[in-house]
Amino acid sequence: MSDQLIRAISRDGYMKVSAVSTRGLTERARQIHRTLPVATAALGRLLAAASMMGSALKEDGASVTLQVKGGGPLGTLLAVSDNLGNVRGTVDNPALDLPLREDGKLDVGAAVGNQGALTVIRDLRMKELYIGSVGLLWGEIAEDIALYFVESEQVPSACGLGVLVDRDQSVLAAGGYLVQMLPGAPEELAEQVEAALRSAGAVTELLRTDPDPESLMRRALKGFDMEILEKSPIEYRCDCSRERMERALISLGPQELRAMIDEQGGAELTCRFCDNVQRFTREELEALLADMGASS
Ligand SMILES: [Zn+2]
Repeated sequence: MSDQLIRAISRDGYMKVSAVSTRGLTERARQIHRTLPVATAALGRLLAAASMMGSALKEDGASVTLQVKGGGPLGTLLAVSDNLGNVRGTVDNPALDLPLREDGKLDVGAAVGNQGALTVIRDLRMKELYIGSVGLLWGEIAEDIALYFVESEQVPSACGLGVLVDRDQSVLAAGGYLVQMLPGAPEELAEQVEAALRSAGAVTELLRTDPDPESLMRRALKGFDMEILEKSPIEYRCDCSRERMERALISLGPQELRAMIDEQGGAELTCRFCDNVQRFTREELEALLADMGASS
């Protein structure tokens, strides 16, 4: 099935849930960045989380950026979502190879590290960005996201994320859920939810048997009466363009641009989030330089 996001609320109004299936967009990320399995899993988990957090933003053009800097060998991970849940992301060391854990699973925690922070940047298209941060305790990402909501936003939350990589390294299943208590929720509800999620088991197993996010939510929250508010398609989406790259070149300043023309005879820019490569000829760079001179 194609990637999808759902949003739901419990009938008693005390709990909201997002769930996503993200196999397609995670596979796209793998192909763009040529990630090996542990990087595929780490980046895939972060993309799924970003999608659910981004889709919670109401303002058109709003976005959320999740940055994970854990001090591990993967380096920094970045995922950005628009307000519809469409995502893009990148990782410093996509080709990292680590031995599997003793239980045969990918060692995402060791790859990410737990000596750093998860930073959440919300751009609501207002004057200032909203930035929150929490120290990483696990580096497994789902638990760190839940901790972020508890510590930074005082919202009791539970998060489950999973990426299953096939033997040929392609993505077999990916997705997750984010469960959040709403104001007035009785205290025991959070414990009941935790117990339900625990007994439902790992997200990768749930997704392997059925990737549908509604089914994922209903199986993860067995016994809870949930009402679906929204179902929408999501995808890997980058908003880069030749114009944007032109602006990046201009922002280098005339000296840098001059040096680029003299030393390289042109420029080739690759987007950090996707496989968009734009070439600028000597003549085009000269024209940019002339424009800059005219406007200064
Ligand atoms: Zn791009």
